[in-house]
Amino acid sequence: MAITDLFEKDVQELEAEGILMTSLQKLVAWGRSNSLWPATFGLACCAIEMMQATNSKNDLSRFGSEVFRASPRQADVMIVAGRLSKKMAPVMRRVYEQMPDPKWVISMGACASSGGMFNNYAIVQNVDSVVPVDIYVPGCPPRPEALIYGVSQLQKKVRGEAYDQQGVRLPMVEGWAR
Ligand code: SF4
Repeated sequence: MAITDLFEKDVQELEAEGILMTSLQKLVAWGRSNSLWPATFGLACCAIEMMQATNSKNDLSRFGSEVFRASPRQADVMIVAGRLSKKMAPVMRRVYEQMPDPKWVISMGACASSGGMFNNYAIVQNVDSVVPVDIYVPGCPPRPEALIYGVSQLQKKVRGEAYDQQGVRLPMVEGWAR
């Protein structure tokens, strides 16, 4: 193909010939969204469902997220799976701060998002008060499919393809200030 074709043909014609046009920002976001590596961090019964999301039936690896990392320095997603006690909250915050930027948080289950049935002095009633949450997965416990759906929604957010309830497009990762 001659270089002049790039200027004369429109994007659809070029794509039909196997040439993709994109920006570096979109390419980086696409790469990030398809390699979300969660930190190995389970707090309670929800963590069992989180583990099940990686088994051969549910296969979270289809979305590039099977690599649960033992070191927070190699992870970019924190899945808060289960109730968070007030004693554990500073530990979780430290793990979050040890993760490199950009990083995201999924709140998994009723207990992490709202305290669930544990409306008492020992349990944090919303993990968003400890770490900034990007995705809430409802349920007690959420099934592995629900967590996988949450991961796919996070992928949309990372790529800048997510919308809020008013239909306004949410900014890509560079626009998020923690
Ligand atoms: S939401 Fe349900 S399954 Fe998850 S930690 Fe709370 S009690 Fe356990």
